[in-house]
Amino acid sequence: MAQASPSLTFEDLRERVLACELCPLSETRTNVVFGEGNPDADVLFIGEGPGEVEDSTGRPFVGPAGKKLDEVLHSVGIRREDVFIGNVVKCRPPGNRVPTKQEMEACVPFLEAQIAFINPSLVVTLGNTSTQWLMPEVPTITKSHGTFYTWQGGIQLLPMFHPSYLLRNPSKAKGSPKYLTWLDIQKVREWMDRQT
Ligand code: SF4
Repeated sequence: MAQASPSLTFEDLRERVLACELCPLSETRTNVVFGEGNPDADVLFIGEGPGEVEDSTGRPFVGPAGKKLDEVLHSVGIRREDVFIGNVVKCRPPGNRVPTKQEMEACVPFLEAQIAFINPSLVVTLGNTSTQWLMPEVPTITKSHGTFYTWQGGIQLLPMFHPSYLLRNPSKAKGSPKYLTWLDIQKVREWMDRQT
């Protein structure tokens, strides 16, 4: 993982990201979505990339999937300002397609720098893209969600379903993605409670 340069502040990093033109997504974006929350948070949530509303506002997870994420967080009393929320790529892939390998390779050093600054103890990956990018050896999200893995430097990594997947699967029945996410976020809550 990249180390944050001692001379670079988090604000410097934000400015660099906001000005970035390293990959073709810079040509179609409206706004760069750096991420937001508490830069000293113990818990970092990482999604795939900005969607339409995020692109138009420059804020992460504020569209329909973001509202769903808020519901999930609020169900266990986690506030956005308690955590940091970001994405693997900072600019919207057109049509919300999955970012290409080249786009992710170009952007991930920024995510690595964010991780180095925030220094979280727990990373919650939302969906397959961020999970598989950070830890390719874990099974796909249907099998890996809700499992704690030990990632680089001893950081815990917990995959969860992406909130947009929950929007496409609205059932709350036992065993449904929503039901399982409700169980998974309780694990995050319990983990946070153990830190205090
Ligand atoms: Fe730069 Fe990342 Fe945006 Fe590509 S997606 S232009 S690498 S900030």
